[in-house]
Amino acid sequence: MNNFLNTFSVRTFARTFSISSLLFVVFSFLLFHQVTHAKDAAQPFVTYPNPIGDYLKRIQQGKQTHVFDPSLRFEEWQKKARRALIKLTGLKKMEMELAGFTPKVQLGESKKNEDSFTRSLCSIETEPGVFVPFYLLVPKDTEPAKPRPLLLCPHGHDKLGLHSYAGAFKDEKHKRKVLEKKGDIGAQAARRGFVVIAPATRGLADEVLVPDPKGRHGNRPCRAQLMHCLIAGRTPIAERVWDMQRLLDWAEKNPLIDRTRIAMTGNSGGGVLTAYTAAIDTRIRVAIPSCSFTSVMSAEGFIFHCDCCLIPKLRDWGDWKELGGLVAPRHLLIVHGVDDSLHHPPTVEKLAINIGKIFQAVDVPNHTDLKWGSSGHRFYPQKMWPFLSKGLK
Ligand SMILES: [Zn+2]
Repeated sequence: MNNFLNTFSVRTFARTFSISSLLFVVFSFLLFHQVTHAKDAAQPFVTYPNPIGDYLKRIQQGKQTHVFDPSLRFEEWQKKARRALIKLTGLKKMEMELAGFTPKVQLGESKKNEDSFTRSLCSIETEPGVFVPFYLLVPKDTEPAKPRPLLLCPHGHDKLGLHSYAGAFKDEKHKRKVLEKKGDIGAQAARRGFVVIAPATRGLADEVLVPDPKGRHGNRPCRAQLMHCLIAGRTPIAERVWDMQRLLDWAEKNPLIDRTRIAMTGNSGGGVLTAYTAAIDTRIRVAIPSCSFTSVMSAEGFIFHCDCCLIPKLRDWGDWKELGGLVAPRHLLIVHGVDDSLHHPPTVEKLAINIGKIFQAVDVPNHTDLKWGSSGHRFYPQKMWPFLSKGLK
């Protein structure tokens, strides 16, 4: 009996203890997490020694010529700001120089697969000698009489980017790497009934790189692209938006696609491209830039994006708040990961609030939102689909 009681009380004690210690550990973790996040929020993203810090803040203030002004008629502000942005990026220059050029699309054969969509590797010549490959994914049950919504999804800094997004994996390792971060966003959308265009992003995909001979530009092809673009009076962003627009021209005429329901997404550099394309081209009805939509700089003057996303004199124009404002009254969902070390949550939160005010000014406060995923620099598809279907309805 004594033995039984002893065993009983030891067991009961052990159970009680393990439950209370578990609760204690969970509680401490939550508290620690909150404290760290609160501390993060209060911390500067980076620090610059003075006088460098003051100098950066002073010169990067810019003229802000097209800053959103609620006292102006909204369409008037938007028209002028968009026109200025097209000029500033070098896209206007490309439009003028390439006015006589007709892009050509080469369709590929669709390869047999077990999935619910067909996949073909196609190509579009967007300017003389520039062939941009893209995957076209079409749900297998598509009837020609029933056009589908389109998802245009350009990738970021991933040399295999278009293959990753389309779920066309090179090998098991590639497959595992992409799927563990739900990075096959195009394939996921095709399974949901979207026609999908997953294009190569110029300067980022292996197929459309500008090489960096002798490593003069840091052995970084996207930086080499920036350098070559700048001396030509254009930017990588302009080249990329140009490519997306030529794909949209083609898609609009495709009977499989419902031209009134076009959405765009991309992670990282693909999200930056999504933001600029949606700001410039009103054919994009829903834009979901993932792990990318932030102010140009942190409060200390740190520049968040890669060199290849640079628009010279952007701060003389405005900032990403204005980029967001150019998407209104269409739909803009900003998605980020709480543990993405490339971005600063308080900066993003502040920006999203200011963009919300612009959407409020045109009476569509529900057309924009900010969602946080629970980990790092990646897609959070579950945060995207509900917004996408609501926006395309
Ligand atoms: Zn880059």
